[in-house]
Amino acid sequence: MEYAKNILETIGKTPLVKLNALTADLPCLVLAKYETFNPGNSVKDRMALQMIEDAEAAGILKPGGTIIEGTSGNTGMGLALAAVVKDYKMICVISDKQSKEKIDILKAVGSEVHVCPTDVAPEDPRSYYSTAKRLSKEIPNSWYVNQYDNPSNCKAHYLSTGPEIWEQTQGKVTHFVVGVGTGGTISGVGSYLKEKNPNVKVWGIDTYGSVFKKFHETGIFDENEIYPYVTEGIGEDILPKNVRFEIIDGFTKVTDKDAAVYTQRLAKEEGMFLGNSAGAAIKGLLQLKEHFSKDDVVVVLFHDHGSRYVGKMFNDDWMREKGYID
Ligand code: PMP
Repeated sequence: MEYAKNILETIGKTPLVKLNALTADLPCLVLAKYETFNPGNSVKDRMALQMIEDAEAAGILKPGGTIIEGTSGNTGMGLALAAVVKDYKMICVISDKQSKEKIDILKAVGSEVHVCPTDVAPEDPRSYYSTAKRLSKEIPNSWYVNQYDNPSNCKAHYLSTGPEIWEQTQGKVTHFVVGVGTGGTISGVGSYLKEKNPNVKVWGIDTYGSVFKKFHETGIFDENEIYPYVTEGIGEDILPKNVRFEIIDGFTKVTDKDAAVYTQRLAKEEGMFLGNSAGAAIKGLLQLKEHFSKDDVVVVLFHDHGSRYVGKMFNDDWMREKGYID
């Protein structure tokens, strides 16, 4: 018989899928690393398990402990699945701009969810960063994961996602394009691919309202770049330790409207029912057209599943209200 000993053993080894309709005007092969095949329907299962196992090994997370994380949903889902299998209590602290589906899903897998306001500074006691930190001080035998600065986040992608992409493309990958939030995916995959072949180019997708692109280009943390935006999962108003700017060749920014429209287009034109950051990633990749030539193999990573966005990017009333479609 062939079976996984528990659901956590099914994490990783996701398929690489060719894009066709949306990339017809590009000269190169474009392949999507399709992370919704993970059991929590996102790439985040990989780093969630790595962070937990590293904390167990370091003795920071002990039997019967409580895991606390500030998460936009996907990391919480990955942590919650592992918490169920490994018998920990899970508390997710989430900002109020996240979709209702994400909150309901976290509760469905046994997580306690605290919702915090988005439009406050990270150091404000009401922010989700501050709330998560406070809870970890108040609750005994608890561990604050901190995916932004936790090195196991980047490590997970260095050990699994990066090698998978290298092997699946038989070392032919020339470009890696991916949305950046905590930076774990781009830094882990990017550094692995560059170690294998220093000529691989690594591009980050950023949003308007986030600091990454300007910081990468100028070294300046410009507070004027920070304002609320709609796109989910990517962009930040802080500089997480997991973003290794030195291995990133460039950033391109995608508007909220384009990210939303291209999330719909992936579903309708490729049959790829994916989350909002996938729309941003594919639109950003198309913006980079002039950087690609005929023999290039461009890999784009799609982080999560469309089911979490049915009330937003897949709801035409919501899209009209925002002015994204007529
Ligand atoms: N897309 C989605 C949907 C996400 O949840 C995240 C994580 N915030 C990202 C993209 C960015 O990935 P990373 O944190 O590894 O930079």
